[in-house]
Amino acid sequence: MGIAMCWFRKDLRLVDNPAWANACNEGHVIPVFVIEPSIVNVASIRKRELFYSHLLALREQIADLGGDLLIIEGPAQKTLPKLVREYGVESLHFNDDASPSSRARDEQVISLTGLRAIRYWGNLIHVPGAILTKGGSVHKVFTPFYKKWIELEIPSYSKPEEIVFADIGDDPSITFSVNLSSAITPGSLGANQRLDEFLQKIADYKVRRDFPSVDATSHLSSDLHFGTISPRTILEFLDGSLESGEAFIRQLAWRDWYAHLLLASPEIIDSPANPIYKNIKWRNAKDDYAAWKEGQTGYPIVDAGMRELHETGFMHNRVRMIAGSFLVKHLLIDWRLGERHFRHLLLDGDLSQNVGNWQWVAGTGFDAAPYFRIFNPVRQSMKFDKDGEYIRKWVPELSGLKNREIHAPWTVDRISLDRGGVYLGENYPFPLVDHDIARERCLATYKAARDIGC
Ligand SMILES: Cc1cc2nc3c(=O)[nH]c(=O)nc-3n(C[C@H](O)[C@H](O)[C@H](O)COP(=O)(O)OP(=O)(O)OC[C@H]3O[C@@H](n4cnc5c(N)ncnc54)[C@H](O)[C@@H]3O)c2cc1C
Repeated sequence: MGIAMCWFRKDLRLVDNPAWANACNEGHVIPVFVIEPSIVNVASIRKRELFYSHLLALREQIADLGGDLLIIEGPAQKTLPKLVREYGVESLHFNDDASPSSRARDEQVISLTGLRAIRYWGNLIHVPGAILTKGGSVHKVFTPFYKKWIELEIPSYSKPEEIVFADIGDDPSITFSVNLSSAITPGSLGANQRLDEFLQKIADYKVRRDFPSVDATSHLSSDLHFGTISPRTILEFLDGSLESGEAFIRQLAWRDWYAHLLLASPEIIDSPANPIYKNIKWRNAKDDYAAWKEGQTGYPIVDAGMRELHETGFMHNRVRMIAGSFLVKHLLIDWRLGERHFRHLLLDGDLSQNVGNWQWVAGTGFDAAPYFRIFNPVRQSMKFDKDGEYIRKWVPELSGLKNREIHAPWTVDRISLDRGGVYLGENYPFPLVDHDIARERCLATYKAARDIGC
């Protein structure tokens, strides 16, 4: 039996991990993780902590099986070829990734090691290329993609028959410890607990998932990002014949779709998927961008979302749409700046998902919200946070206002503001822009870009 290396990346689990299963089945296995400073250092401290704790959890799982997860630091192009030579590795197994920079790195690693490399798609339900138009391209509209996606048979798991670890002598791993500031249980154990908790409440998912003050969603996005659980494992527990099960499965299809799209069109990471919008004249006002990031726009629902993001690394999906739309359409700030900020802070921040969703919000993406659909943040707030519970949690300086007042404090009379302890311009800002004026400005700007064309 030869030596097979399993290179863990965004797949920090042993169950339903085709790279792991096949490496084990092919030879004496060496599990390895390469910490790449160029990737890790751009993440927020909170995201780094979470990542390190997932990594340690994986290392423990492998130790329980009698092996060692090698954890080395440095660019994979330098570190992996060295390890491969040292240990006489014969094949390299890893799960693929749609990110263009990861793919470029992988090509270099394969060529520098000169190894037989076997790549799998362990982090999606259906592999890219499985769902194509008659012309052989990825669907640019979600619904036809979904209709085919839902009909496809789910590929079965590959499992290790037997696990024999290669003898590597002294473990060259770096040592580190983590102080996880949140109470989250890391690794696959935690991910499965989160899935179990969600399954207790899934019946309400469809009707309650849009309300940010209600804890109705799964919070599995960051586990899916780090791969502590596979989407197929989640799918096994869902009943698509029930409305809520179907609604949830549809979200997993969006996730697959955005990954398929990025793989097919890597240029969308920094150019509009719909080229008609390549000439949008963004204002990119620095002060407005700073106010948005700090949750000081004067629109309570937007500020609540931005503060939730800053304090927890999470933001509810409905509020991501509202806050994202506000940045792009009300402030006319380039979606790429919003995308970067979200990706830095979100614990689930993921290139394919974040770019896909930001382009959707900006109206520049495939099958995106039409450019003339401009969310009214006050109406959205009144509809999805009617009693202001979410706003009160994240913007406590407004908590003294009545439910009907809290969505637009600048419309409230002076006496009521005083009674609620709100002093506009002092402890809470006036709105950065007027909705109607911003709306007209946005429509004119997008129309001008469309008139210039591609
Ligand atoms: C501007 C913006 C940026 C976003 N950036 C990201 C990102 O970087 N990473 C990320 O995983 N999601 C992103 N999303 C999608 C969505 O907001 C999150 O996946 C969701 O809020 C995560 O919470 P949850 O796991 O409780 O979701 P649930 O409602 O429980 O959904 C289950 C799973 O389905 C997937 N999913 C749900 N909604 C979407 C969606 N709109 N697009 C793709 N997949 C989805 C996620 O993997 C999620 O974990 C973004 C949305 C917007 C509007």
